[in-house]
Amino acid sequence: TICMVTYKSMEVDIEAYRSCTACSLHETRTQVVVGDGDPYAAIAIVCEAPGKVEDEVGRPLMGKAGKKLDMLLSQVGLQREDLFLCNVVSCRPPGNKLDSAPDAVVICPDLWLYPQLQSLRNLKVVVAMGETAGRLWFSGYKATEMATLARNMGRYIVVGARHPAATLYQGGLEAGILTSLRRAILYSLL
Ligand code: SF4
Repeated sequence: TICMVTYKSMEVDIEAYRSCTACSLHETRTQVVVGDGDPYAAIAIVCEAPGKVEDEVGRPLMGKAGKKLDMLLSQVGLQREDLFLCNVVSCRPPGNKLDSAPDAVVICPDLWLYPQLQSLRNLKVVVAMGETAGRLWFSGYKATEMATLARNMGRYIVVGARHPAATLYQGGLEAGILTSLRRAILYSLL
């Protein structure tokens, strides 16, 4: 499976990752949702945290928001197998509310997100989807401005985008996400 390819290639201790108890979310999760996709991807997508479906299945972006992302990716000629998908926080927060676990947002990226990104040897672009991911790389932004944000981190460029889940309760956001994805493709070709 894709997961096996990912796990074999990552310079991340997957067993330690899967048994992580570094923050309070380990008490309520079903399983750690580790990053997933092509270890040779040029583009990584970083979203917020696993939801109910992801917590059950063990892979990121498998619920409604994930299906929406698949649809948006197809509109720009991408599919998830071309990319690496991961979250700022790897365990599901109770009720999907990260407010209840502020320690996770501080601890999890250092422990698992950044090392995973570091392990992607061909990485050129990170698409930070939603405010939680955006806050890792951008300050002083508004959600409405995320599609306009970009930051050069040296090894890769970070592009901002709204979270695909936002399109489920607010109309008219798809165009901005598509713009971000097209920018990501362009930067990945530089
Ligand atoms: Fe570990 Fe991250 Fe899960 Fe917290 S959210 S227990 S830091 S894997």
